Amino acid sequence: MRIRLLAVAAACVGAFAAVSAQNGPREVSLVVTGGTVVTMDPAGRVVPNGAIAIDGTDIQAVDTAGNISKQFRGRDTIDATNQVILPGLINTHTHAPMVLYRGLADDLALTEWLNKYIFPAEAKTVSPEFVRAGTRLALVEMIQSGTTTFADMYYFEEEVARETKQAGMRGVLGQTVIQFPVADAKTPADALVRAESFITLFKDDPLITPAVAPHAMYTLDGPTLKAARDLSRRHNVPTLIHVAETRDEVQTAQERFRASPVAYLESLGFLGPGVLAAHGVWVNDADIAMLKARGVGVSHNPESNMKLASGIASVPKWIEHGVHAGLGTDGAASNNDLDMFEAMRFAALLHKVATSDPRALPARQALELATRRGAEALGMSNRIGSLEPGKQADLITITMADARQTPVFDAISHIVYVAHGDDVRNTIVAGRVLMRDRQVLSLNTSDVLRDARAMVERVKVAVSSETKEKR
Ligand SMILES: [Zn+2]
Repeated sequence: MRIRLLAVAAACVGAFAAVSAQNGPREVSLVVTGGTVVTMDPAGRVVPNGAIAIDGTDIQAVDTAGNISKQFRGRDTIDATNQVILPGLINTHTHAPMVLYRGLADDLALTEWLNKYIFPAEAKTVSPEFVRAGTRLALVEMIQSGTTTFADMYYFEEEVARETKQAGMRGVLGQTVIQFPVADAKTPADALVRAESFITLFKDDPLITPAVAPHAMYTLDGPTLKAARDLSRRHNVPTLIHVAETRDEVQTAQERFRASPVAYLESLGFLGPGVLAAHGVWVNDADIAMLKARGVGVSHNPESNMKLASGIASVPKWIEHGVHAGLGTDGAASNNDLDMFEAMRFAALLHKVATSDPRALPARQALELATRRGAEALGMSNRIGSLEPGKQADLITITMADARQTPVFDAISHIVYVAHGDDVRNTIVAGRVLMRDRQVLSLNTSDVLRDARAMVERVKVAVSSETKEKR
């Protein structure tokens, strides 16, 4: 027994090859091999010609291809030669079904865009069927562009959850609570009841983390904000909310409560670990200190903020002050896609021009926002965000061999400044291969596109009648 214990200890300190050599390589479910492994672990380890051994849902080992082949034999193997092996990307803020409103209304400010186009379109088109079709379309796009976890805020969130689970994707999925009547709830009280039964349905699911999503401080009264937060605290699930997205919101908070949106939420006892605040464009220094002190995660969404001209979030300052920051696309209606590579690139470029400092938000930091830091922002860093033994096998491989990626001096530079979502070859979540060599396996892409197009016909009808009513 003592010898066996010593053997286990030896394996833990990395002398596994010597021990297992006597018995031959251990069989595992999947080995991804031959690529440059960018682990995004705290030490920033990069392994050229590396490999990852996966068994079931977990990463067993990350090492050179040679060492992995001595220790493990995969029942399945993915050859990642001339590719980078990277943790799957984490999108910390989106509204998946809104892909069906992609390009519906562009070049408008948030308030006008929301009140004149999005809210009315949603009032006429959102249904369980709409949400299912939209979520499936978003899932295909996310799997194809290397996202493996997404945080979502929408209606009929149980439908988002069912489709997400079915497609093998990981989601932190928030049931929306909003003050006015919407498709899935006549009142905020109805929405809270719906949120609670959603939580009960998906609590302890390995892929789905149910959450409560009070829309924003300007679309909800104080008692409802408190009730939504209490509900998530009671069930120990995350709270997703838009915070300080626009100047209008800051003005509203100032007029109604003589406080910033962050200070107002703090006065309600709302802030704390488990809260994910989207945007944070207009936070002041005291707000940043408060977000840090309360352990709130904040999602930066550069493309949406740029497109709606909401402003520039002071992300380098957040990071400097230790705020848990992640990166998101926001919904496709204000982006207009779910490609996290674009989000990384825009983040890196935006903060350089905003600070007149080319050293601001360097490539590695942009990649951290989309991986390790995003996991921290969602409170999931013990399970995802880096390639380390014991963590969930959520990973992607990206080609580095095409004209556009040649030559490669630094893989991380290419991931942020060159790669597109289309360069992702394989997408794996919890050890399951969701896309293999660009072929999505967990969804029937042509069916998904057909259903989405059919649903969009209804959106067109609804929007054209809306336009007529306005005249
Ligand atoms: Zn949003």
